[in-house]
Order: sequence, then C-alpha cells, then structure tokens
Amino acid sequence: MSHNPRRQFLTQSAALAATPLLASFAGKAFADDPARKLGVALVGLGSLATNQIAPALQKTRNCRLAAIVTGTPSKAETWKKQYGIPDKNIYDYKTMNRMADNKDIDIVYVVTPNALHLEYALAAAAAGKHVFCEKPMEISVERCQQMIDGVKKAGRMLGVGYRCQFDPNHLECVRLAKEKVLGELKVIDANFGFAMGDPTQWRLKRDLAGGGCLMDVGIYCLQTARMLTGEEPVWFSATETKTDPVKFKEVEETILWQAKFPSGVVVSSVSTYNANGLAGFRAATQRGWFGLEPAYFYGGNRGKRSDGPDINFPVADQFATELEDFADCILNKRQSKVSGEMGLADVKYLMTIYDSVKKGRPVTL
Ligand code: NAD
Repeated sequence: MSHNPRRQFLTQSAALAATPLLASFAGKAFADDPARKLGVALVGLGSLATNQIAPALQKTRNCRLAAIVTGTPSKAETWKKQYGIPDKNIYDYKTMNRMADNKDIDIVYVVTPNALHLEYALAAAAAGKHVFCEKPMEISVERCQQMIDGVKKAGRMLGVGYRCQFDPNHLECVRLAKEKVLGELKVIDANFGFAMGDPTQWRLKRDLAGGGCLMDVGIYCLQTARMLTGEEPVWFSATETKTDPVKFKEVEETILWQAKFPSGVVVSSVSTYNANGLAGFRAATQRGWFGLEPAYFYGGNRGKRSDGPDINFPVADQFATELEDFADCILNKRQSKVSGEMGLADVKYLMTIYDSVKKGRPVTL
C-alpha cells in the first residue's frame, strides 16, 4: 500500500476508469446532448480539481468543463491547452464578477481551502451562477448560513461535495440499515485518517482550514453516521491527542469522538492526520454486522456483511456522478440531496465535537 493515501485514492480510481461510467446513475433521463451540457467553472486548480474533478467532468453527460479560476497564470496556460478552454473563460479570483456576462458558465465549483469557500461561492452567486462547494462547506456555522442565504438570494442552487452519497456501496449500507436486513442498527464504528506530509500546507493552518483532521476527514465518518441512521445526533463526547505539537501547532492531530442518536444508536469515530490505514466503518445490528473497508476512497470501496455476500458494487466516478446529479437538479428544478443545509448541519456537529474537546465533557444538543 502506498504511504500516501491521497495518491492511493488516485491509483484506485484509475483502476476503475474502465468501469462503464454512471451506468447505475438514477437521474439517467438526461440525453447525451452536447448542446445542452451545463458549463462548469472550477475555482482553485489544486490537487482535487486537477486529479479528480477535471477528469470526471470529461465523463459527464450533462455538464462540461467550461471555465477556470486561478491565481497562477502558468496553470491557466496548461489547463487552456489540455481542456481547450478559451481565453474569455479564464478568470482570476478578483475577476469572478465578470462571469455574470458569460453564458458558457452555469455552475461554479469551489475547490479552494475551506475558509475561502464562502467568498467564492458568494462571488459566483452574485454573478448569477449555481454553486457547488467542496466539503467541509465552510469553517463556521455562520459562514455556512451566509453561503446558503447568498445563493438563495440570487435564486440559484447550492450543493456540497459529498461524493460518498453517490457511491453505490454506501447506498447499499444505507439500504441494509433502513430495511433492517440484519435487524436494527445499534452501533457504528467509523474511522478515517492519513499521515500528513508537507508541514507547510494550508490544511495545517487554522485560518484556512478551520480545524484539522476532523474538518478534513472526520466529516466522512459523521456523514456515515447520519446516512446510516437517517437521524440527527443529540449528544457528543470528544477528546484530542497530539504527539507532534510542532507540526500540529494550529490544528488537531488526532481526535476521538462519540455520538448518540435519538433511536439509541451510538457512534464511535477516530480521525487522524498522523496514521495511515484508517478508512472504513462497521455497523453492528441486532443480528450481525455490515461495513465498508475501504469506505472513503475515490474508488474501490467495498465491504462485507455478516450473513455472507460481499458488498462490492462497481463504483462509477464519484465526482462525475455527483456533478451529473447536481446538473440534473438544476435542469429538473429539484433539490439536491447534498444541500447547503446538509453541509451546515455537519459543520454544526463538527463545532459541537470541538466544543466537547474544549470543555472536557459531553455536550447535548
Ligand atoms: P490543494 O491545496 O491541492 O488546492 C487548493 C487550491 O486552492 C490550489 O489551487 C491553491 O492555489 C488555491 N488557493 C487559492 N487561494 C489559496 C490560499 N490563500 N492558500 C492556499 N491555496 C489557495 O487542496 P485540495 O486537496 O484540492 O482541497 C481543496 C478543497 O477540496 C478543500 O476544501 C478540501 O477539503 C476539498 N477536498 C475534497 C475532497 C473530496 O474527496 N471531496 C478531497 C480532497 C479535498
């Protein structure tokens, strides 16, 4: 296994590139008509935009990479050549307001550091564009609310990049829980982490990241708990450990949280920036268990259930699928299941976990 989980995501995704794409996508009513594809502008051409989102956009049937926003002229040149983006569709962070005049752009996908999501989402909405925003939605509940309000005021649609909501393996686990196939769900154990490399990156800076491993990868485990229970948590207890106070001076290194849900389901979760090998969940039920390992990679997620059959659905490109769904929401005027409200609720729970760490005691919502 690679010691770099982000690289590992890439490798596993590449292995899946041959999968017939989006075959299982539910909103398949949209025909492959280039004239009707919605134009997507990517804001922030970093690792995720470069390695996942831009390639995924080449596979979608109802959207296309139409524009880019970057502060680095050399990147603009590379992308322009690679994706045939015309000069008029290349922006920097200060010229986004000019998008208002550009009919090529329907959706602005914000892929910058967390604390910059609001600024660019609002700029996009003000230019009359729909907004798709990476997770975590922002670094405070207030800033998430401002994004929701700004996009609503512009009469546009807002979605958050929760790719696992479109992974058929996750959806199968939701079905097992909901239909009580193995009896009632009782306990969830969900963990995600990786060993952080570059000590100078924005993920370790509080003003840009808003927090550490919890904001970045712990959020996936929270999503798992909310998806499987179909409920909202009512109680959190959390604690933090730090073995490298220099590298993790500004944000948490490892955090352990527990939660209770109204039905009595309890959840335990570890997220970390200092260990590899954590990327799965197990759900214990009255008569057995099911889970995914890995659960949170870009591709190759798979799992098992105690009564026998493997959970191993072919995963279409998660980013292509989530973008196709968002475009379909716009075209058919339906609410996205990965809404701004969902993104805000997650940030509220993440803040409650931090609050519990700070207070050194459980917090009831
Ligand atoms: P990255 O560091 O690789 O890219 C960030 C981009 O933002 C770069 O192009 C950088 O130039 C730009 N940027 C603009 N202003 C900046 C500033 N002031 N400081 C630093 N960079 C600035 O990060 P990434 O891994 O691509 O993550 C971007 C976003 O995507 C984050 O919100 C992250 O949580 C999210 N993400 C989501 C997933 C997922 O699976 N859904 C995976 C990785 C990252």
